[in-house]
Amino acid sequence: MGSKEKAGLPSGKANLYPEHLDLRIYPDPVLRLETSPVILFDRELCDLLENMLGFMKAHRGIGLAAPQIGIARRIVVADTGQGPLKLVNPEIVTQAGGEIMPEGCLSLPGSFARIRRNTHVEVKARDVRGKPFRFEAVGLLARVLQHEIDHLNGKLICDYNPPDHAGDQP
Ligand SMILES: [Zn+2]
Repeated sequence: MGSKEKAGLPSGKANLYPEHLDLRIYPDPVLRLETSPVILFDRELCDLLENMLGFMKAHRGIGLAAPQIGIARRIVVADTGQGPLKLVNPEIVTQAGGEIMPEGCLSLPGSFARIRRNTHVEVKARDVRGKPFRFEAVGLLARVLQHEIDHLNGKLICDYNPPDHAGDQP
């Protein structure tokens, strides 16, 4: 995997986010933390979202939430083949339909759970500059967004059904 080097930040400026992302695997406690909304829309947030997309693709993911890289903030990226999405403080505002499908998660390698999700959702979020926007998603993208927003609330696929390797189940 080729890594692209970025110019270092000017010294003396504290970066809120790590430069090197590290995938957190269940039962890492950060996956259960309550996340805070982003209030500062700066260059570092922009860089983080770009890094998260690259990281997600390198891991062959179609969605990634900030707690999965150890950041307890309400940030999600996704790409189901219709183009990259960067969502800050996303919220589902309407939902409809229902479908049960098997689902995996980068933070629970090798586990799958059959989960009932809405087939249509409307999401509101902010872009990297803090501008609010809304959009509708159906099918796989709707499922991915529900999965990633679950991460922001500390909820994982193993909370729906015991995963296939149920070593951590009580
Ligand atoms: Zn996940």
